[in-house]
Amino acid sequence: MDKNAYNKISIKQGDITELAVDAIVNAANSSLLGGGGVDGAIHRAAGSELLAECRIIGGCPTGEARITKGYNLRAKFVIHTVGPVYGKSGNSAELLKRCYENSMKIAIDNHISTIAFPAISCGVYGYPIQEACEIALGTTIPFLDQYSFFKKLIFILFSDGDTRVYKDCMQNLTNHF
Ligand code: ADP
Repeated sequence: MDKNAYNKISIKQGDITELAVDAIVNAANSSLLGGGGVDGAIHRAAGSELLAECRIIGGCPTGEARITKGYNLRAKFVIHTVGPVYGKSGNSAELLKRCYENSMKIAIDNHISTIAFPAISCGVYGYPIQEACEIALGTTIPFLDQYSFFKKLIFILFSDGDTRVYKDCMQNLTNHF
């Protein structure tokens, strides 16, 4: 892996709804009609037009992703992906991997070069942060390596503890450079 791919990643603590990137990723539920956690925060910040567009899409299966506009957000687009409920939705690791893959594929198709991800499934859906972080980094880094037009990928975490886990994981990956 080229070191350049790692340089495109930043790990931050904060609120994803405030980021001025091409696209933020929403940890949605399969109805796409909003919910709690990061999903609720994104819908509140984007406004009711986001819900209207989500209604037209009509839902999304676990592991897949859909794109909408960002409306009142600073981000131009929202990529909605449905993470697995840990230990309940079939093969959780495979499904979580697909969320990151399918979000990156939609980004490519829409010429999105700056993107931010929350810790998909790590809230109400109960995915352990360490395992989820390894999947998040391991799945997205090859896309950053392969597609030079990707400029920036932000992992944005809510808590101190989650931010530390991501930073440590990233440190372990880059240690051999
Ligand atoms: P899921 O149902 O996929 O588990 P949640 O929204 O419950 O989704 O949690 C996903 C992660 O998003 C959790 O780690 C939670 O702390 C975090 N989170 C909640 N609100 C925000 C926000 N505004 N910005 C970034 N991350 C958030």
